[in-house]
Amino acid sequence: AATFNYGEALQKSVWFYDAQRSGRLPANNRVSWRGDSAVTDGQDVGLDLSGGFYDAGDHVKFGLPFEFSMTMLAWGVVENPAAYQSSGQLPFVKANLKWGNDWLIKAHPQPNVLYGQVGKGDDDHRWWGPAETMTMARPSYKIDASCPGSDLAGEAAAQLAASYLVFKDSDPAYAATLLSHAKQLYTFADTYRGAYSNCITDAQNFYRSWSGYQDELVWGAIWLYRATGDSSYLAKAEAEYPKLSTEPQSTTRSYKWTIAWDDKSYGAYVLLARLTGKQQYIADANRWLDYWTVGVNGQRVPYSPGGQAVLDTWGSLRYAANTSFAALVYSDWLKAQDPTRARTYHDFGVRQINYALGDNPRKSSYVVGFGANPPRNPHHRTAHGSWADSIADPVTNRHVLYGALVGGPTSPNDAYTDDRSNYTMNEVALDYNAGFTSALARLYGEYGGAPLTAFPPTETPDGPEIFAQGALNQPDGNKFTEVKAYVLNKSAWPARTFTGALRYYFTLDASTTPSQISVTSPYNQCGQPAVKQFSGNVYYVEITCSTGVAPGGQSRYRKEIQFRISSAGTWDPSNDWSRRGLAPSGSTPVQTPNLNLVQGSTVVWGDPP
Ligand code: BGC
Ligand code: CA
Ligand code: CA
Repeated sequence: AATFNYGEALQKSVWFYDAQRSGRLPANNRVSWRGDSAVTDGQDVGLDLSGGFYDAGDHVKFGLPFEFSMTMLAWGVVENPAAYQSSGQLPFVKANLKWGNDWLIKAHPQPNVLYGQVGKGDDDHRWWGPAETMTMARPSYKIDASCPGSDLAGEAAAQLAASYLVFKDSDPAYAATLLSHAKQLYTFADTYRGAYSNCITDAQNFYRSWSGYQDELVWGAIWLYRATGDSSYLAKAEAEYPKLSTEPQSTTRSYKWTIAWDDKSYGAYVLLARLTGKQQYIADANRWLDYWTVGVNGQRVPYSPGGQAVLDTWGSLRYAANTSFAALVYSDWLKAQDPTRARTYHDFGVRQINYALGDNPRKSSYVVGFGANPPRNPHHRTAHGSWADSIADPVTNRHVLYGALVGGPTSPNDAYTDDRSNYTMNEVALDYNAGFTSALARLYGEYGGAPLTAFPPTETPDGPEIFAQGALNQPDGNKFTEVKAYVLNKSAWPARTFTGALRYYFTLDASTTPSQISVTSPYNQCGQPAVKQFSGNVYYVEITCSTGVAPGGQSRYRKEIQFRISSAGTWDPSNDWSRRGLAPSGSTPVQTPNLNLVQGSTVVWGDPP
């Protein structure tokens, strides 16, 4: 019997990818707190490289883990199309695959050129704000024939070939485009050999190619074989297979790690076993999954007392989820010839996914917005919604990043804290959710569980997003009023930049004429003041913040404006609309609707007279 609602978990896990989208969002964007961002990516190299996905809680577009994530998602659809169909999640997962594939096609402008990163790791990580208001340079990095990356190009081929299988019936023309790019990319990977992070060196500190490219040469060929049925690709995969890594000082194929963004050997074991039925591949797949379950020569992946298989410090739940998905796929095939192992691998997959969903000593979910006591503060810039470039402010993330699987325990001890600043335990990433999503689809197929009918719930902003505050800067004079105002932008639904104007309304008194009014500005972080007529004897001072006020740092989210309106005629502030609501002279400016903020012709804050 199902312990968890796998349909709901699947629904949310797919939605997480919607929340990671970069570029100009479509009209049917499902994330109310996301807007357009990084729309000029690629301009540094004369290309449109906008779109794609942000890697994690940061805003770099890292190619290798992105491609791997897409391959894993597509693999899940290929294996369990009926589950996707009946859960209603097929259109959503396909939309996300298309979002990724469309970007990859743009990143592949010539047969032997592939862009593999946009954004510089350190520069990106230095700033803690929402994607919609970032301003740092985002350089584009590529591989080509003179400095190649067979891992990056080989995984790109895998992604596109796997996606071909997802789209071939519903959109054959699109699928054909994917396949032609996949073939070109595989040829590029195979002909010009190298590890991509020797060329895209900025990736070295983040996604270095530790395992090299041999695994992607096998993996890419397997997926091209699955897509085309062309036996030369199967022959290629088998010919490259013997050069896959082995355990140190042995000829035994590696088994003490797992399928993840860096190394797809383990996926190759499973798929070649199934595609060929050959003993060699079955032995490699069994040894690997035995290591994760019953142990090999008395050695087993570390387990926590509560039952989590913990491979490594970083993203332990992700490794367990990836292994679970591959184990479930393999088990479905293996059960005809080795039912005992098949059951062990199946039960392992169910157990590890259930651990992440809440079957653990903490009795807590590790999926944001799902189940019992889930993480509330994942390390994610845009979901946090800080306006002040501060990881600590506000205290609680302003958005719920539904479906995101956090890194999880860093040791086999079932321990975890929901601490935003702990990015080892509490970051989320494209690749963390990938095998996880596919495993959920498989478990939904077996155990069911209805997705939510109204999802996502509507988020309500936590207060005014773009607003004004004001105080008198001097006690009322009989010839002038002097004001200190702030224009503030704490927007997050979505975060957006305000480039409009502050308006201060006043009424001309007695026979005073507009030409008798002058405005000076002793201190002003926006533009110069102008006096304009509103209607009749009501006028306003207008100050435009054309350089922008945005939730993106201390000096960006709040602009101070001081101004003095002086009259050479009479001056009576008591009937001035904006004078009402100002804090007394010498006190802190207070929020007031009598100051207005206007963007274009829209009043975004306050009430006009
Ligand atoms: C960033 C994370 C990143 C980590 C390791 C942190 O500063 O916020 O997104 O994963 O550095 O590079
Ligand atoms: Ca590799
Ligand atoms: Ca007046």
